[in-house]
Amino acid sequence: WLVLPSRKTPPPPHPPRPGKGPLALRVSLVGGGGFDLTEAGTQKRLAVYVVRDPQEVPGIARLGPDPLAEGFDRDAFAALLAGERRQIKGVLRDQSVIAGIGNAYSDEILHAARVSPFKLAASFTEEQVTQLYEAVRSTLGEAVGRAHGVSAGALKAEKKLGLRVHGRTGEPCPVCGDTVRSVSFADSSLEYCPTCQTGGKPLADRRLSRLLK
Ligand SMILES: [Zn+2]
Repeated sequence: WLVLPSRKTPPPPHPPRPGKGPLALRVSLVGGGGFDLTEAGTQKRLAVYVVRDPQEVPGIARLGPDPLAEGFDRDAFAALLAGERRQIKGVLRDQSVIAGIGNAYSDEILHAARVSPFKLAASFTEEQVTQLYEAVRSTLGEAVGRAHGVSAGALKAEKKLGLRVHGRTGEPCPVCGDTVRSVSFADSSLEYCPTCQTGGKPLADRRLSRLLK
């Protein structure tokens, strides 16, 4: 659930035309406020609920812990990874494991922790778990800090500015200068820096190798 400030300009009087754009829903509130919801990626799964209690929304009721909550310490994070056989990129993005991390910030967290997105979650050493935990807290903490006080309409542009690798394929890594690469993952793609995260070796793009077979 979101509490959003009213935007300065009223929504256009005509509904948007359906098309291939990312706009999924335009909400106009009584009193002139409103906001747009957009959705990228090929699988359209956006859902909107109007409820009195957030716990009435199934997706919220099954959410994992808030990674910025005070009690979410390093050991709580380690417990989430223990015995987890999936790749860390997918685990971080799984809202029922840990809440609020999407495609963009999982890329940013893994880059900050200098970890391959394809590494199996259960294979992290104690030290790597600590590193990843610190990257989760610092990356999300900085993002929340930057977004503070920014109007709803400007949030998306602000978020993009703060990203170091996500959505920056072909650009230099701000840490080491290597070229940021992209590889397919699940229903979309992820970005990473080979030098910082995968020992300089580009990850195999499964989508591409499947096409070549
Ligand atoms: Zn780098």
